[in-house]
Amino acid sequence: MDKRVGFIGLGIMGIPMVHNLIKAGFEVTVYNRTALKAAQMVAEGATKAISPKELTLENSVIITMVSDTPDVESIILGKNGVLESIKPDSVVIDMSTISPQVTQKIAARLREKKAHMLDAPVSGGEQGAVDGTLSIMVGGDIDILERCRSMLEAMGKNIVHVGSNGMGQTVKLMNQIIAAGNLNATVEALVFAQKHGVDLRKAIEAVQGGAAGSWQLSHLAPCMIRRDFKPGFMVDLMQKDLRLVMEDSESMRVSLPATSLIHQMFHSLQATGEGKSGTQALIKVMERLAGIEVK
Ligand code: NAP
Repeated sequence: MDKRVGFIGLGIMGIPMVHNLIKAGFEVTVYNRTALKAAQMVAEGATKAISPKELTLENSVIITMVSDTPDVESIILGKNGVLESIKPDSVVIDMSTISPQVTQKIAARLREKKAHMLDAPVSGGEQGAVDGTLSIMVGGDIDILERCRSMLEAMGKNIVHVGSNGMGQTVKLMNQIIAAGNLNATVEALVFAQKHGVDLRKAIEAVQGGAAGSWQLSHLAPCMIRRDFKPGFMVDLMQKDLRLVMEDSESMRVSLPATSLIHQMFHSLQATGEGKSGTQALIKVMERLAGIEVK
């Protein structure tokens, strides 16, 4: 396949993903709204474009990795966007987490230009992006996925086709229901153990290899104890994902009582100025309820 790719969105995830594409031998053109971040990638060998439209002129595969649904819409469908210069048979791979319904709408607009779309959101966090071990859940035409597989393999390990356009995003929301539930269980367990005077480092070591082990326990509980709230995944982005889950729960009439409660608990962090903290800051909400601090 074409070894050239255009990459839009150089945030916590985008930068290491571009790094891995370059390492795997791809020629990468980057665009970022805040141009300064693109300069770092140019130093690593990428080329810089001044708009999504210009980036698309030079590339037939375009990856987007930005924050939210309106951001992907404006980059692809908006002024100076991808749609203005896309060529037939090109592929847009959206790796952000956004609305499944809007994904279907964007895919339809691309189809009018005889171009293809894959929704390919990821799981594995910042470390997974750095290590190139992301799980990638892909919606869209399976033949288009096979065409792009080597590119995705530069960024991830577990690449699974889950259905048509929008299904990748739906499976990512399923992933977030599990992640939020595990995170909530982790913070409740830490506060409980702290109250009993347990050595939390030892407790995590003992529990993580058994049936209660989880990514959240192994990766985020140690940060909570160190009081390290630097974002790998920001509270505001988790809330964006849980909002998408809640909207679906409403329209599909699916009861998700625990996820709904966790969404409310995260509001408490946003209300106290912690929206840009990592999701491990959820411990602070539980600490407020319990009247103790974990350490
Ligand atoms: P981030 O660090 O906040 O980066 C967001 C990126 O999107 C930045 O490059 C930002 O540009 C760009 N952007 C936002 N709005 C834009 C707009 N309207 N037009 C153009 N560019 C725009 O976020 P991240 O953690 O990399 O997450 C990116 C996506 O991956 C999100 O959908 C998130 O839910 C998902 N995700 C994240 C993780 C994680 O652990 N971090 C894991 C899985 C999935 P500026 O630099 O100009 O702000």
